[in-house]
Amino acid sequence: MRTIQQLSEHLRRLDNRGYKAYREIEAAYDAGDFTLYVDHVQGDPYAAPSRVRVVLPAATAGVPVWALESRIRRIAAGDFFNRTLFDRLDAARGTAGSGHSGELRVLRPGQQVLERASVGVGADGQVVARLRAGLPARGRRILGRSAARLLTEILPAAVRASLRYEALDAAAFRRHVETVEDADALRRHLAERGLVAFVADGARLPRRSGVDDRPLEGDVVAFQAPETLRVTLQAPHAGTVAGLGVPVGVTLIAGGGYHGKSTLLRGIQAGVYDHIPGDGRERVVAVDTAVKVRAEDGRRVEGVDIGNFIGPLPGGQDTRCFRTENASGSTSQAAAIVEALEVGATALLLDEDTSATNFMIRDARVQRLTPREEEPITPFIDRARQLADDRGVSTILVVGGSGDYFDVADTVLTMRAYVPQDVTAEAKRIVHEMPAERRWEGGPWSPVRRRVPLPASIDPSRGRRSVKIRTRSEDRVSFGTEEVELDAVEQIVEQAQTRAMAEALVWARGRAIDGRRDMTAALAHVAAAVREHGLDVLHPDEVGEMAAFRIFELAAFVNRLRSLEIRAGEEE
Ligand code: ADP
Ligand code: MG
Repeated sequence: MRTIQQLSEHLRRLDNRGYKAYREIEAAYDAGDFTLYVDHVQGDPYAAPSRVRVVLPAATAGVPVWALESRIRRIAAGDFFNRTLFDRLDAARGTAGSGHSGELRVLRPGQQVLERASVGVGADGQVVARLRAGLPARGRRILGRSAARLLTEILPAAVRASLRYEALDAAAFRRHVETVEDADALRRHLAERGLVAFVADGARLPRRSGVDDRPLEGDVVAFQAPETLRVTLQAPHAGTVAGLGVPVGVTLIAGGGYHGKSTLLRGIQAGVYDHIPGDGRERVVAVDTAVKVRAEDGRRVEGVDIGNFIGPLPGGQDTRCFRTENASGSTSQAAAIVEALEVGATALLLDEDTSATNFMIRDARVQRLTPREEEPITPFIDRARQLADDRGVSTILVVGGSGDYFDVADTVLTMRAYVPQDVTAEAKRIVHEMPAERRWEGGPWSPVRRRVPLPASIDPSRGRRSVKIRTRSEDRVSFGTEEVELDAVEQIVEQAQTRAMAEALVWARGRAIDGRRDMTAALAHVAAAVREHGLDVLHPDEVGEMAAFRIFELAAFVNRLRSLEIRAGEEE
């Protein structure tokens, strides 16, 4: 292996040559205490920056043995290293020359702690980081001295300052790992306690804005559980933690407008992830099978059996295998629920703000005006109890406007100035004193038809490129010739998840999605491969811009592909 000193000399020799000559440096270099790999050199200064990777042996990284003992600790440690490296590179940011010249960066983590391909800590203590370096040029001529400085001075200094335990704030590192381990433990306790979510007293739920996930600053009312729903859970480091336990079954979050209903639900939906210390949601957890669903008119639906929610349509469309290029609010929401159940959701999170009214409720007067035979929709209110009682699927629902839901609720919370109250008894009394006049319209729940996705319909190619993927944001990705819109998939929290899911579909085509396995089996196969081999299994080329995702978001992605084709399978 060549040394990093030799790389420096080589780069100086390349000075003033045409940009393509940078290709010569694609190799591995011994930096003494770690190894530097130049995995891929960009074609020109304007192209995506070059991929470089550093591998620190356990002896250099010095991660204490306790932090390597479990998968969750290694993920937390890698996340901490990633943040430290990001901050360090961000502070030292400078560009020199054309295009991306002089850039040096690593994936930027959000508020949640995730396994990411950008920085990984192995069970043996080895640390791997994948970075992007914009190799410097003036016009298209190589700036050899700046390149030498970037790769053989700035990069090694940043690596040694960020990816070695010795150089870190040990107390912050420990707090990070323990915070994550606590959240993970709290989440694991939910099922045995008959809960679907837990919000610790003192949690700070509101965010700065819809596009800024950091905690709201200023006057935030800390979360406080109502006495009657307060439970205590054990966390390995924090000890006994008290807070609101949301029981399995049907739970309503009621209350006046602007009193914090949606904020609580969003806190819960974020609880499928672990959060960094200081986030405010460190001890807010939900079962990892909780899925936010919403209406999304205009989306495509491919062969979904929504028969339990929408009966035969006026045009004679078969809703047991429902297809549309342009779903309505109600059909899109029905499809979203069926698609989530298909891959194992056990808790549905719904907000009236983002639901279709006619999907949620049909009140007594409307029932009188429009007879059952003329209304294809069975509203969610008539399925919520069946889902909970017969299928073990809980619902947490924000309702400000429909008291009819009191009939089907197990638990009713109301938000008063951001503080939840348990009004279950009061709601039951109201049900008794003011019986709803609507009729139940549910009927039996029919077994749902399975779907087998066809591999040829998942086509990432574009022009001469067999795979062309470009992630524009967490909600926008171009996949082959198609622009996929994921705005309604609220539990995607980082762009790197979207990239990883796009890669996962490429990987799955022909392997997991083979034209025989149904959707459930195919996506479970992908999830199992990622779990066993890590995200790296999805891409052969040392790409750092990938983060762990759930099967629910992957399903949401594939279900929104406009090219997707399925074959209807057996009933479940
Ligand atoms: P609702 O869904 O009940 O109409 P929201 O959840 O949208 O209310 O909250 C309304 C506003 O109050 C939002 O701007 C939100 O950031 C803010 N907010 C929510 N919870 C808190 C809290 N605990 N402390 C301070 N502000 C909050
Ligand atoms: Mg709201």
